[in-house]
Amino acid sequence: MTNDSTDPAPIDVPALESKHVLQVYRRAPIVLVRGSGVRVYDDQDRMFLDLISGVGVASLGHANPGLAEAIADQARTLVHCSNLYYHGLQGRLAERLAALSGLSRAFFCNSGAEAVEACLKFARRVWHTRGAVGRHRFVALRHSFHGRTFGALSATWEPHYREPFEPLVPSVTFVSPDDPDALGTAVDDTTAAVILEPLQGEGGVRPLTREFAGAVQAACDRTGTLLIVDEVQSGLGRTGVPFYFSTLGLRPDLLALGKALGAGVPVGAAMMSEDVAETIRPGDHGSTYGGNLLACRAALFFLEQLVDHDVLGHVRRVGAHLERGLRDLATRHPALVIELRGAGLMWGIVLSRDAARVIEAALQRGLLVNRTGGTVVRMLPPLVISEAEIDEALAILDSVCGELGSEATA
Ligand code: PLP
Repeated sequence: MTNDSTDPAPIDVPALESKHVLQVYRRAPIVLVRGSGVRVYDDQDRMFLDLISGVGVASLGHANPGLAEAIADQARTLVHCSNLYYHGLQGRLAERLAALSGLSRAFFCNSGAEAVEACLKFARRVWHTRGAVGRHRFVALRHSFHGRTFGALSATWEPHYREPFEPLVPSVTFVSPDDPDALGTAVDDTTAAVILEPLQGEGGVRPLTREFAGAVQAACDRTGTLLIVDEVQSGLGRTGVPFYFSTLGLRPDLLALGKALGAGVPVGAAMMSEDVAETIRPGDHGSTYGGNLLACRAALFFLEQLVDHDVLGHVRRVGAHLERGLRDLATRHPALVIELRGAGLMWGIVLSRDAARVIEAALQRGLLVNRTGGTVVRMLPPLVISEAEIDEALAILDSVCGELGSEATA
């Protein structure tokens, strides 16, 4: 008798987890077992249209055959050899990311938080190498989210993430993205770097304005302060361009990437300019798994699809379709939908009430979306979603909004 460990075991998954898995996540009450394209299936074989894609990770959809083949081929060849030796894929991946971002060097890691952490450390290292040891402050933004490690958490705005773990990295000043003047005052020649998401994700899908971005770039130029752009969520085609920072006229010195890059295989990257890179020495930073062959192979496959097979153009086309559909939804439910924010395939539907009931009702009807910033329904579908699948998702949301809207007026 074979006992394939991938077979769904006849166990009560939530009960088992509640005993042995640290309870840091509030999971929806479904057990997912497989996926195909934009759809996932649970252990009762119920189908869900996945418009959150593992929070922007399953960028090529689920069980993508080409990705599966690339990973399997790599697994049969060499999965990992550590950073003690060269292998053929890191350089190729770095070269592709450099061409896409304009930042010539990459440090590879395994998650978004690690990419942010690396950027923060490298920014400090720049000023240390240049002999400006007192130049250690960071300026971050209200509504920011950069991850859960100490450094990334220190630059994350929402107090409930930070307070239980204080004291964190000192000298982080938070500025409101509505206040370009405050930003201008906060950045001075003791600031190591400004860190920002050009399109804030966890904080409620909030794009920065061009005016604010202009103030950031001007303050960085005036004082020589480094600019760290975090595109862990918004980057790599999500908004219909390689990186959202380009639409705001920002010129980052460092760029944090993760999520979509491995299309489901954990990989992160900190990209940086040559000026930054030349201040960093062997031994300054590292990661056991960072840039391993499996991760690089998956990321190379993703970038081939994004650029060579024009997934980027597809995002622009279907993103425009999604935006039109969302605007129609907002018009049909004006009491419930008060604002739409986003770009490409990254959207927040801002409600006049807590978004939890909408998320729950959508799940009951077979649609996965999630709540962010309390009142915002967030959509981050796979980049390969079709117009028909978007219409299907919008029809479900329309019926949910209709039901909850009539509940409110009953
Ligand atoms: N930065 C941004 C903008 C994010 O959205 C996230 C995760 O949601 C992170 C960093 C942290 O990434 P990870 O969860 O992979 O550590």
